[in-house]
Amino acid sequence: MKNDLLESVMEFLENLYPLSDAMTWDHVGLQIGDPKQKVQKIITTLDVTPNLVDYAIKNNFDTIVSHHPLLFHPIQVLDLSDARNQMYQKIINHQINVYSMHTNFDVGKNGMNDWLAELIGLKNIEGICPVKTTSGTLLMGRMGDTTLEIEAIIEIFKHELGLKMIKLLDNGKSFKKIGILGGAGAEFIEPAFKSGVDLFITGDVKYHDFLDAQIANYAVLDVGHVAEKIFARQMANLLQENFDFTIEANTLDEMEIPGLENK
Ligand SMILES: [Zn+2]
Repeated sequence: MKNDLLESVMEFLENLYPLSDAMTWDHVGLQIGDPKQKVQKIITTLDVTPNLVDYAIKNNFDTIVSHHPLLFHPIQVLDLSDARNQMYQKIINHQINVYSMHTNFDVGKNGMNDWLAELIGLKNIEGICPVKTTSGTLLMGRMGDTTLEIEAIIEIFKHELGLKMIKLLDNGKSFKKIGILGGAGAEFIEPAFKSGVDLFITGDVKYHDFLDAQIANYAVLDVGHVAEKIFARQMANLLQENFDFTIEANTLDEMEIPGLENK
């Protein structure tokens, strides 16, 4: 039943992205807060950071919906001279709810990887990259057809998401099937190519991952983990279509680390 309490938002999100679809190591759902608290203003974000929390307090947001979990590692000591712990203290003192949708959202229909696949206009989208979740094996990545050239795809990420750090390992071949998996997806490069992709797009690809991909003659586009910030704006839209609360997407973009522009 829909009401103006946090539990109503949780129920709506968990119907679309069940908590049991998260990978077994993940910590998703309510992080801090009270399901019986009345909601008026929600801010959506990729990450919960001190800057975002200060912004939420200043602008009277009572609820944060994030992609990355706020509480991922167990807390042993709440030493309040530590910046992260001070952030938790502010969240609790200001009665702000924090709710996170992580790998349950990545695998979900109309989740992270469907949204990223749609962003670059892929057609005939299907799932790739099986992962073990609490509810069984689900497909985290997406694969689809494109007619775009690599320059046009890079331009979409730059223009639509404002990304600055994009790395391309080009194998000189033309491509039709693109695989995409937001976040840190280097471990899925090989499985994606075995599923038939000609180009794989992900983030957080390390030197040795690129080296292995080059040896295997794979084409890889690393758009950065920050490409997942598509979450903020699209989740704000999804919630706004379904609730009357004031909903805003985080545009602070604090985790976009600018590189030196190529001269
Ligand atoms: Zn991520």
